[in-house]
Amino acid sequence: MPHTAPRIALAAFMLESNGHAAPAPKAEFEATCWLEGEALAADLAKPNPRAPSGLSGFIAGMAGGAWEPRYLLAASAGASGPVEQAVFDEIVTRIEAGLRAAMPVDGVYLCLHGAATATAEFDPDGVLLARVRAIVGPDIPIIGTLDLHANVSEAMVREADVLISYRTNPHVDMVERGTDAANTMRAMLGGMRPKAAFVKLPLIPPATSQNTDRGPYADIIAYGQSLIDHEILDVSVVSGFSVGDTPKNGMSVIVTARRDQARAEELAKGIAARLWAMRERFSIRLTPLDDATAMALAAGRNPSVQALLFADVADNPGGGGRGNTPFILRAFHAAGVEGAVFGIHNDAPLAAAAHAAGKGATIRARFNSAETQAFSESFEADAIVEALSDGEVVGRRGIYKGRSVSLGPTALLRIGGILVVVVSLRKQCAEPAMLEHLGIHLRAVRSLVVKSRGHFRAGFDDIFPREAIIEVDVPGLTAVVLTRVPYRNVPRPIWPLDLDMSWTVPGSHG
Ligand SMILES: [Zn+2]
Repeated sequence: MPHTAPRIALAAFMLESNGHAAPAPKAEFEATCWLEGEALAADLAKPNPRAPSGLSGFIAGMAGGAWEPRYLLAASAGASGPVEQAVFDEIVTRIEAGLRAAMPVDGVYLCLHGAATATAEFDPDGVLLARVRAIVGPDIPIIGTLDLHANVSEAMVREADVLISYRTNPHVDMVERGTDAANTMRAMLGGMRPKAAFVKLPLIPPATSQNTDRGPYADIIAYGQSLIDHEILDVSVVSGFSVGDTPKNGMSVIVTARRDQARAEELAKGIAARLWAMRERFSIRLTPLDDATAMALAAGRNPSVQALLFADVADNPGGGGRGNTPFILRAFHAAGVEGAVFGIHNDAPLAAAAHAAGKGATIRARFNSAETQAFSESFEADAIVEALSDGEVVGRRGIYKGRSVSLGPTALLRIGGILVVVVSLRKQCAEPAMLEHLGIHLRAVRSLVVKSRGHFRAGFDDIFPREAIIEVDVPGLTAVVLTRVPYRNVPRPIWPLDLDMSWTVPGSHG
């Protein structure tokens, strides 16, 4: 019997793979989201789902008309190293099996990050899209959303009909882009057959140069949006994941037209040329640790001056960092900084020791006792266990707003004039509830130290304006000084590793 309401398959695969972090086992996905079939449907019906926000946005966008969702698998992990090949193979196999069982479908929506690697595969996102395409055939729409940190490949663009990336960093438009995907799906179900153009640039902008409130990336995204008209459906200027290490590193421009391939090509080339010409604006400047320590000391001594937020941008779990390097903590503690809160430090054995000792106990806090990553050096100090929790929070601002987040067993430790939030599951400190649920009053904090590259900005901007943010220069797996990143696989020459290189947009004159 023919079905009238369109049947759309939904799946998610989200991983951002740091080229120099340890491989991600299945547990990394299970700690964030591994939901299949009915379990995925049930999660997405909740007010605070675990599944990626793009799926919620897509479902909201489809809700205006009759449709039949077919829930496959949502596998999402915090940024890590490459996914273990067997785990990626299982993800693909499960999505394929779910899709075959759902056939015939009228469309597929894939919520992707776009910067995954697997231990034996540089382009799992491209592989997944190709395997889905092989099942549905050339005529069924496949629409994907991408994180703007995606390292986009030719295969990804070829196998999908439309790829739509976020436009905000911090990413506060994940739901909206999912809704864009739904609107595009409806148009394709009505007969539209869009054409995409893709230009890859030999340009890796450092992670801290990619904010979208202002600066070069804000300007180029705004320019791209100014080109949207009756013919141009989407302009995605994808900054890429700077500490991935793949042949597909680098910025990408994807322009999707409703029908006119030539116009899409022309605009994509124009944006790429403009980006290349402005590349010097993506240079960065960090604050040395000694200067940051002096600033924290001063802020602690004078409660009448603006409180400061120190970003440990090189140990960002959101980019595959371990979330536990001790460099800033060690320096602030040695200097006697007062009124500082460190949120959040990933150390399950230390959190367990605090839980075993109990609230009010004094313990010898041994940081990183079970850690193997070289940057995660040990640090010891006497600490008082101030508070304990199970680490289950619901986000209230920024990228985690409305989402359920698990930190695992969590402890608040006092070390001299410093409070340290110790968690058991590696997460980026981008959400006030991660600290507030332990009784921390953020407005009373003099120095807040977060292990985050930039998503913290959307979580804490009511208390810490742009001028109060200090990006500290310490070592780590998510270094933003790219000459320090031990790349092996990125294509050369590439900016800023090869500063005096020249480049012209392929197929253009000049
Ligand atoms: Zn991102």
